[in-house]
Amino acid sequence: MQLYTINTGHFKLDGGAMFGVVPKSIWQKANPADENNMCSWAMRCLLVQEGKRLILIDNGMGNKQDDKFFGYYYLHGNDTLDRSLANHGFHRDDITDVFLTHLHFDHCGGSIEYNADRTKLSPAFKNAKYWCNEKHWEWAVNPNPREKASFLKENIMPIKESGQLNFFDTSKDFLPGFKMYEANGHTEGMILPLITYKDTTLAFMADLIPSAGHLPIPYVMGYDVRPLNTLKEKEYILKQAVEHKWILFFEHDPTIECCTVAQTERGIRMDKSFNLAEL
Ligand SMILES: [Zn+2]
Repeated sequence: MQLYTINTGHFKLDGGAMFGVVPKSIWQKANPADENNMCSWAMRCLLVQEGKRLILIDNGMGNKQDDKFFGYYYLHGNDTLDRSLANHGFHRDDITDVFLTHLHFDHCGGSIEYNADRTKLSPAFKNAKYWCNEKHWEWAVNPNPREKASFLKENIMPIKESGQLNFFDTSKDFLPGFKMYEANGHTEGMILPLITYKDTTLAFMADLIPSAGHLPIPYVMGYDVRPLNTLKEKEYILKQAVEHKWILFFEHDPTIECCTVAQTERGIRMDKSFNLAEL
């Protein structure tokens, strides 16, 4: 199995919303905010090459929304999904499987695109099966008012209409060496890939631990629907990561792709940080 980092660009989110109950005087040291209190975050995806399959885990926010939307979220930087795939010698039509951790717009917005005259929405990965957790799908298509702004119909419904939607069997591994961990604190039924790689496990953290700044247990995003569950899920994953020397892969850290963690007297903290390509 070979893994590649796919950068789809950066965006901005309110720093306070990202750190929940943690005061700005603490989080701003590592995550400087702009004049509107917004911090910059990556939308970093993972490409898994296994035999003839090319599996893309999440796909960023895409580019189909209007100027008003991008005015809120400030998509920026030089990275795009296509450019990043091309850097590794791939094209979006090569993707055989699109693995969606959950359906918040910054994770699945690249799934669907407009045609040239913006009249029709269709899958941006035309040769791929799309994979999602059925329990989460049901949650997303009937959204609660709190998450409604994150579940955009145009990102979700065309996947089903295309006939390319598949649901995980969460009682099994996705592939040999590719396990799935279900977390229910951030949203209902988010799936984290746990991938055997280079003699260890690479854990794709999605929105359970979105950045290295979120490693301390109480640093939970204000967006989470069940923050107390998130605390337990983080504790479990971090203990596993210390015990088995896992690599954590951050989807949203603005600069740090991966790290290992170690037990310290203050709790579990980052040990070494590195890029995936250095492994
Ligand atoms: Zn999310």
